[in-house]
Amino acid sequence: MFRFRREVYLDNNATTKVDKKVVKAVDYVLRNCYGNPSSLYKDARNSAEKLEESRLKVAETINADPHEIFFTGSASEANNAILKSVSGHFYPARKKIVSTPIEHASVMNTLEFLKTQGMQVEYIHVDSRGRILPDKLEDMIDDNTCLVCCMLANNEIGTVQDIQRVSRLARKHDVLVMSDCVQALGKVHVDVKDLGIDYASFSAHKIHGPKGVGALFVKHGRPFTPLIHGGHQEQGLRAGTESLHNIAGLATACSNIEEMLSQSQRVLQLKNLFVEELGKIKTDMVVNSPEEACLPNTVNITLPRVNNAVLMAMLDYNGISVSAGSACNTQDDKPSHVLKAIGLSDQATRETIRFSLSTDTSEQDIKYVVKILEEYFEGNQVPVSIITPRQLDEDLLFNDDTYILDVRFWYDREILKGLPNSHEASFVSIKKYVDVIPRDKNILVVCQMGYGAAVIAYYLVSEHFKNVSFLLSGMVGWKLSNGELYRKYAGKNIEKLRPGSLLQS
Ligand code: PLP
Repeated sequence: MFRFRREVYLDNNATTKVDKKVVKAVDYVLRNCYGNPSSLYKDARNSAEKLEESRLKVAETINADPHEIFFTGSASEANNAILKSVSGHFYPARKKIVSTPIEHASVMNTLEFLKTQGMQVEYIHVDSRGRILPDKLEDMIDDNTCLVCCMLANNEIGTVQDIQRVSRLARKHDVLVMSDCVQALGKVHVDVKDLGIDYASFSAHKIHGPKGVGALFVKHGRPFTPLIHGGHQEQGLRAGTESLHNIAGLATACSNIEEMLSQSQRVLQLKNLFVEELGKIKTDMVVNSPEEACLPNTVNITLPRVNNAVLMAMLDYNGISVSAGSACNTQDDKPSHVLKAIGLSDQATRETIRFSLSTDTSEQDIKYVVKILEEYFEGNQVPVSIITPRQLDEDLLFNDDTYILDVRFWYDREILKGLPNSHEASFVSIKKYVDVIPRDKNILVVCQMGYGAAVIAYYLVSEHFKNVSFLLSGMVGWKLSNGELYRKYAGKNIEKLRPGSLLQS
């Protein structure tokens, strides 16, 4: 039966579609503002003016003063800069940072690094919805504490924390507060003065702006030393010629914030509709996001007995983009630290999926996704076979009809050797390999964790390959279950495929 196929993007917490006005603003700057803002002649002054206009817009959006805004290459950089700067300033007099276990990787990994440099980090407990108990926080603050680090809104489950309360408690003890506001901006009201915070980070690509630009808020008078040394750009606190087109793109995206906020009720209604409809067709689903104090666009759901790698790939096959965790986690071999912190078992983390809507999402989009999911739960979607690590034994590995397609990234291949007799192709440009993959064999797609392989398996089905399967849990799972086979055969007789379209040229 022919059915209209939609493209539905429900991964807006990973990144957002660039707004048309932003594209125009970026294009304008690239064409017209090529002068270096640090120089003095007319073209440079033009650029410097654009830079200052942009700073003013970003500051106004979050109720900061323009001199409290510094542009960075990303929010990850902003988070690194704040944490390293504050630690450096207080160390060794005050060594402790109190944070939450559900921060973004750019905070978590920086904190873990700072521990190796002599800092102490304590993580406050979160409940099953990711909420911290501010009173518990107060118990953890002592004379040794220099910073409380708590995100305003979580990227995976959407929990919005009571940062005003956190700031009040921290201030009582003369402790500074940083808040990662990346996911909150454009979805809930963000006013750095109201929040009472000392430092905050923002990212353009989460608000329909360009990738590769962020903003850092440092409250006037708060300690800050540069992460990147060099020229005197950004008041000498962030060296490097400014990425003016991206900065102008960020400012233009900020000019849409009011409009985005005015639509948050509509987005929330669509999310609620989705949860309600999904609940009817999968009655045992568990919503991990809080009902109250949650981002209007975000819902994180566990679907018992539904593998999220397969589900994500099946949805992709149907034109629907969702994520099984944060974008930063999908290439990692560990379960999401956020889902673990809220108490999910390893098994449940593999059955959990995040849907993140945007102001572009329509009711038709939601209905389409529900319909596809319903068909899938009823067994009426294109099947891709799953091979578990245990099933992949010598018989299957060395079967003449089996064609093993390894789509791992080169850095994953450095960590784990490939299956014997496997054929290496590129995950991102798999299209170029379609002509060289045999159509008369049983294709077994393999990646490091199982997620990418599921997507490619569905892709091959869409290219009319028959008998396609993928290895659940990938090479990581296979090595764990078959240590002896791995030692005996891994890395043997591997062929690097050459893309067909390149061969023709
Ligand atoms: N903080 C949060 C909460 C995020 O969701 C992200 C992006 O996923 C970041 C920080 C990092 O932002 P960027 O991609 O600009 O480094």
